[in-house]
Amino acid sequence: MSTFSQHNFAGQKALIRVDFNVPLDKQTQAITDDNRMRAALPTIKKILADGGSVILMSHLGRPKEGPEAKYSLKHLVSHLQQLLGGDTKVFFADDCIGEQAYLTASMLKGGEVLLLENLRFYKEEEKGDRGFAEKLSKLGDVYVNDAFGTAHRAHASTAIIADYFEAGKKMFGLLMEGEVSAAEKVLHKSDRPFTAIIGGAKVSDKILILENLLERATDIIIGGGMAYTFMKAMGGQIGNSLCEEDRLETARDIIAKAEAKGVCIHLPGDSLIADKFDAAANTSSAPSNAIPDGWMGLDIGPIACDEFAKVIKASKTILWNGPMGVFEMQKFQHGTKVIATAVAEATEAGAFSLVGGGDSVAAVNQFGFAEKVSYVSTGGGAMLEYFEGKVLPGIAAIK
Ligand code: AMP
Repeated sequence: MSTFSQHNFAGQKALIRVDFNVPLDKQTQAITDDNRMRAALPTIKKILADGGSVILMSHLGRPKEGPEAKYSLKHLVSHLQQLLGGDTKVFFADDCIGEQAYLTASMLKGGEVLLLENLRFYKEEEKGDRGFAEKLSKLGDVYVNDAFGTAHRAHASTAIIADYFEAGKKMFGLLMEGEVSAAEKVLHKSDRPFTAIIGGAKVSDKILILENLLERATDIIIGGGMAYTFMKAMGGQIGNSLCEEDRLETARDIIAKAEAKGVCIHLPGDSLIADKFDAAANTSSAPSNAIPDGWMGLDIGPIACDEFAKVIKASKTILWNGPMGVFEMQKFQHGTKVIATAVAEATEAGAFSLVGGGDSVAAVNQFGFAEKVSYVSTGGGAMLEYFEGKVLPGIAAIK
């Protein structure tokens, strides 16, 4: 595998798969959050600084049948120009394959950029069509994958295309390298104690990740709505808290496996309970296994906060996926904030911490902790599948 930083792109055309799937305002089509574009800048800038030219390909939204104006990547051109600085020329091709794209690509000079139209205007992209991948591959001399967010998909531009570039001409970009090395560090090179914090709504979404972590972690903290299925599985009274009746057996099985393997499972001793799922609900606290009827646990309680924080602060490796409570409502944020603070303190003391997957990433960003953990993953679904132990096609295609 060739490494990006060692490669000199002078005189080469680098075809980069980026994740420019940014949210757009429905009326004005203005970009409402450009983080995904910013995340790809270091890769793009290094190639341009070497004297190479850049051809960017991405998907945007979920177009159904061919081209749809609202999903056109042309809405991104002027902002991309701005992000790259006034002097960089940015061209746009209104089809990701076809004559205009090839002609513009062939005429690109070092330091210039071409943005291609939405890959998903072709059904062949998501189908992983080989002919389509081969057509795309003709646009560049070197293939760079910097789209970790789609690495779990075997699409034409994220995986299949790599077959059309020889070794040394396909590589990860800097964002992808960062994501892969952070994930590998946690799963395969973790210092112990290794604590996994798993929260969120449903046990069913997290079974595979829990099973895989049983093989690797020393401690697993379970919080959020999913904790109550575990509580009930162990004979507790959980009132009206979230519960997946059809997962009670799974929960018992996970507890038994953990015991057999010597992995310590930590469930919240107490909960902040509410009389309805509402920001204006009446609240009280109760042991998580003795919640009265008519009440539901919507956050971990003070005893659980203390215990969880203690475990986290004694850890050398931390993986966090999923909030401890309904953090979208201020009343039920405290537990998630306490956990974020403990992860930040452990990191400060030398632990490696990775926050990955949807809502926990939103929580650390919202509470201002993103800079205080070792790594915040940009790829929700991809990171989750990686921690489930699956091989990600976008990674395998290059490795
Ligand atoms: P997930 O996408 O599975 O990580 O779940 C995140 C969602 O779980 C968030 O929207 C939280 O509001 C929700 N959640 C966390 N704790 C609870 C709880 N105790 N009861 C209901 N929902 C919860």
